[in-house]
Amino acid sequence: MDIDRVELADCGSPEKIIAEIMRQVPEMQIPVPIEELAVAVGITDIHRLETASFEGGLVTQPERASGVILVNSRATAQRQRFTIGHELGHYLIIAHQPASTGQFTCSKADMAIREADRDNRARRMEMEANRFSAGILMPLARFKPDMRNLGTPALEHVFTLAMRYNMSKEATALQYVLHQDAVCAVIISKDGVVRRIYKPNRFPFIDVRVGTSLPTPSLSARLAGDQQSDWDDVHAGVWLAIAREVRHHSLQEQAYRLHDGWIMTLLIYADQDEEEDSDGQISDAYDVWENPRFPSRSRRR
Ligand SMILES: [Zn+2]
Repeated sequence: MDIDRVELADCGSPEKIIAEIMRQVPEMQIPVPIEELAVAVGITDIHRLETASFEGGLVTQPERASGVILVNSRATAQRQRFTIGHELGHYLIIAHQPASTGQFTCSKADMAIREADRDNRARRMEMEANRFSAGILMPLARFKPDMRNLGTPALEHVFTLAMRYNMSKEATALQYVLHQDAVCAVIISKDGVVRRIYKPNRFPFIDVRVGTSLPTPSLSARLAGDQQSDWDDVHAGVWLAIAREVRHHSLQEQAYRLHDGWIMTLLIYADQDEEEDSDGQISDAYDVWENPRFPSRSRRR
């Protein structure tokens, strides 16, 4: 792989760097050969260390003549790929400069940062490195057509894409909901407790907090022990903070049992004011909100 770094130096944002790499390597192999890509931009070594103290690191110079990436070897292969992408982000975004040690050291928590205030520079750097990693490992020029070819949203499609891009199910789920044509969100829970929520800004506010129980009327909370996956139409108020007078919202929920009590939930939102004529069905849904475990209107097979 040949990459002209002079062209990359002018790109300020993660997205511009990714676009330039994809311009230079239009036939990018999928899964993206991230280690080969790292070598092509001047990374001389990728060290795998058994450590509990960090997830990834980068040793480099302010002018980025070369770099060495450190990776926690205890992590899964997919997480290691994400970590290499993250450190590569720090390396290629020249504005990223480490605090005082002259070296980037990134924790597992840093790898999960998706939002940052404008004035929190350290956090912004981590957020940008994560955006770079997801964006280079699942480049939208390839990911979006693949996603569309799979059809209407479903968690099985997230898992198919995770396999194809050699990424974790969670990292893939985030990219999936951010770039789906439909308005979707993913919720990760373990033993009935919400752990993480992934949604684009256009998805309405989810009225469930991390660390609290799944809402009891939700399909995810009801998924039987031996059942792997199910679909249901739930009242939007189960998950969303919607005014009771706003009735024309529909929410489809898919719950999928992963392993060891982990459940991935997909929510697909539609504002039916735009999609359906009022034929009485919606107000039925509103009326039965008093008993939220109303039977589904239409079940997906
Ligand atoms: Zn970092």
